[in-house]
Amino acid sequence: MYRVSQELEYLDSIQASRSLERHYESYGKYCSVKGQLRLNLSGNDYLGLVEREDLRREFLSLYPVYAVPHGSTSSRLLLGNYSLASLFEEEIARALRKESALLFNSGYHANTAILSALSSLGGVHILADKLVHASIIDGIRLSEASFERFRHNDWVHLERLLSRVDGTKTPIVVVESLYSMDGDKTDLRTLVALKEKYPQMLLYVDEAHAIGAVGKHGYGVAEEQDVLEDIDILVGTFGKALNSMGAYVATCTALKRWLINKARSLIFSTMLPEATTAWSRFLFNRLPTFVEERKKLNSIAQSVHTWLKEIDCATIGNSYIVPLLIGGNEECCRVATILQEGGFEVRPIRYPTVPQGTARIRLSLTATMREEDLLPLIDLLRRR
Ligand SMILES: *Cc1c(COP(=O)(O)O)cnc(C)c1O
Repeated sequence: MYRVSQELEYLDSIQASRSLERHYESYGKYCSVKGQLRLNLSGNDYLGLVEREDLRREFLSLYPVYAVPHGSTSSRLLLGNYSLASLFEEEIARALRKESALLFNSGYHANTAILSALSSLGGVHILADKLVHASIIDGIRLSEASFERFRHNDWVHLERLLSRVDGTKTPIVVVESLYSMDGDKTDLRTLVALKEKYPQMLLYVDEAHAIGAVGKHGYGVAEEQDVLEDIDILVGTFGKALNSMGAYVATCTALKRWLINKARSLIFSTMLPEATTAWSRFLFNRLPTFVEERKKLNSIAQSVHTWLKEIDCATIGNSYIVPLLIGGNEECCRVATILQEGGFEVRPIRYPTVPQGTARIRLSLTATMREEDLLPLIDLLRRR
């Protein structure tokens, strides 16, 4: 363990170590940190479902059996295949206009398994956006496929790489629909148009930060841009806006069958408890009704972006994920401390997590945040 301690000392010395020392208690849109109540701007509860006791009560009165904790005892391929899972998959597929859907225990399980299972077909070349999530990177690492990264949302760069892919290979283009560090949406229509020019290309979209919160029915950026049918592999998670746990991929029936045969995180991991899947299903099927929540979320996001412009605070995009571009690591930590002490739970995101000189504070807004909750933060930023 001596070498481990040495490495940890090094990480501490460059202020790059992580720890689990801070504990949070959640109180709706607030959280308490070391006894201080703060507005929680570091979560992913975009629809404000954390506060919805009404939904929890309704769920339990409909399904009292799920009030008693119990596990599924085995993998989906063994006894873990309860009928609710298949029923839910049919509902997801119908909602997202796909032939089929398949559940995973988490987004991390889904991305790592899908990319490696696809690559095991051979002749696959992965082209991933520079900013894709770590679970996608790990899926690429687990796979035997060749891969390249293209500059974030740079379609010219992507097309240059695409045009060079050997004609016998299947290029898989992997993007997120709404990026967690930059808060910017992806132009999926342009990517769909590329499929006409490169008919071998498969389009893989991860909607983790958008499902529930974007689109008329809450079905994500693909719904908003009217391209649901054109995405080959559409991944979403239940852990963020849906306030549950688990993930899905919506795709064609052939790929679903291939994944049941090859997706190792599906085959070799115990299926989620039925109660968790039932809660995800209850909320997923409610998504079309959360119209008011999405309206409020967008409206508070537009207000925050307008105020930030007024005080010349640089940001990106115009969504409910608002990165405040601060610059250097030290300055970012200083501003984060001011905001934290002022009652806002924010985290500095520093180089090397983000490029040098773009250290930032990420504000993650929710549908239950009001203008009066956030105006004091703007005031602190103005006087920083
Ligand atoms: C959070 C996230 C995941 C991981 O999902 P979990 O269900 O938390 O494992 C995958 N992809 C993206 C883009 C994410 O933001």
